[in-house]
Amino acid sequence: MTCHCAEIITPGLLDLFDARQRLIDTATPINTVETITLEQSAGRVLAETLLAPLDMPGVDNSAMDGYALCLADYQAAPGGAGLPILQRVPAGAGVMLLPKGGCARIFTGAPVPMGADIIVPQERVTLDQRGHIHLEGSLVLGANIRRQGEETRIGTPLLAGGKLLDAASIALLASHGINAVTVKRRLRVALLSTGDELIAPGTARSPGQVYDSNRAMLNVLLAQAQCDVLDLGVIADSPQSLHQAFEHAQSVADVVMCTGGVSVGEEDHVRPVIEQRGGLHFHGVAMKPGKPFAFGYLGAEPSSSTPLMALPGNPVASLVGWQLLALPFIHAMQGRAVAALQRYPVKAGFSQRGPQGRCELLRVLMDWSQGAPVAQLAGGQGSHMLSAASQAHGYLMINPATQVTEGATYHYYPINQFAA
Ligand code: AMP
Ligand code: MG
Repeated sequence: MTCHCAEIITPGLLDLFDARQRLIDTATPINTVETITLEQSAGRVLAETLLAPLDMPGVDNSAMDGYALCLADYQAAPGGAGLPILQRVPAGAGVMLLPKGGCARIFTGAPVPMGADIIVPQERVTLDQRGHIHLEGSLVLGANIRRQGEETRIGTPLLAGGKLLDAASIALLASHGINAVTVKRRLRVALLSTGDELIAPGTARSPGQVYDSNRAMLNVLLAQAQCDVLDLGVIADSPQSLHQAFEHAQSVADVVMCTGGVSVGEEDHVRPVIEQRGGLHFHGVAMKPGKPFAFGYLGAEPSSSTPLMALPGNPVASLVGWQLLALPFIHAMQGRAVAALQRYPVKAGFSQRGPQGRCELLRVLMDWSQGAPVAQLAGGQGSHMLSAASQAHGYLMINPATQVTEGATYHYYPINQFAA
């Protein structure tokens, strides 16, 4: 999936989708696994494909509250006499034998008695004075019987390795009686902010100082992505401080993530320090916001080193860089199947000048008041403006050298796809 805009992106910048693919392709999934209880497994990544230990359903059972019978017996009853109720089968009962010449009262989930070939829902059954049942509506052999193994046969794949264990997957495993799973170990990510201007929320701000919002944000995002975060705090804008911080980070984490100092200004020391301590895969992505994204490694050679992602300092650039580039890399490192980006066409409810040299991700709200969705700007679009990012439902992707025209259609990327 590329935006096919290689000829119109700024030279030296990598296409956003190419950058994303390079990150995914470069990731080496962690191979350490652990076995944990199903209760502890929410959000973990299944390490191996699980085969169904059982047929599901385990036995032919009733899909309705009603009556189980042999259709031929009912049709053969002389003079339309109906059938007497000779048996009662609640859920939890064993498999019974249907008494000849009669029917069974049966409840949802209860095993179909042997000899019965149809369940008739109670709404379509009337009882006469003798207590015999009479049926209404069409009678189809096999109706309302959930067949043994119709969903899953024993020994067939149940969940693939790399699957994130969410509530439905955990329920599926529980339904097969599984109470322990082998999962990948959690990823350790070292997180650091760079910038002499940064101060901690809760302290007083002097003119020129900036609260460190990126670390607050990335702590949340990494935790939501099931990473163990090693928060290394704020690192000063000097090569020595960065050398020290990266040396430590590299020794304790699977992945290093930093923000700020990754442009090409005189105070931007991140890139040269990465190059001295390891190397760069790429620096600069044709996206707005998010251009100064760098991907590299700390260590002698890429294969035996610690990957590092340097996110831009501007808060919205950092957020978008995380969502589109860092998150799929983290998923790939976790051994998780990386989901394709979800996007769909949506009309813009506004016109404005388009981006030059890179794709723009406009923070938008979806307005459903007219029936079909229309994208409206969620607020100011500066890469330092968190207000719009905090309100937006998604991004409208505008290709380089493309105007935004009210009523025209663009790709919309819902933000909730980046939630985990
Ligand atoms: P830089 O990439 O270091 O040049 O930073 C670009 C802009 O982002 C500057 O206005 C910084 O003050 C701001 N910035 C950098 N790091 C952070 C951070 N951790 N939290 C909030 N703003 C930041
Ligand atoms: Mg800086």
